[in-house]
Amino acid sequence: MPETKRPVTPLEVNYICDKCNHGMMMEDPSQAVERQGIDHICVICGHQQTLDSSYPRYEFVGVGE
Ligand SMILES: [Zn+2]
Repeated sequence: MPETKRPVTPLEVNYICDKCNHGMMMEDPSQAVERQGIDHICVICGHQQTLDSSYPRYEFVGVGE
């Protein structure tokens, strides 16, 4: 199978704080331990929450999709 390239558009996926509904949840690297969920902290109010995915996250979609 030869290499193939195509243009893609990056999308930033964020999780908005459940408590203040304003801040973005950022993964807390100091809590990086092996277990279910990933600890995050709100950049505005400091609310801590364990989420299934890491945020912010980047996804790529094909142009025109
Ligand atoms: Zn918050």
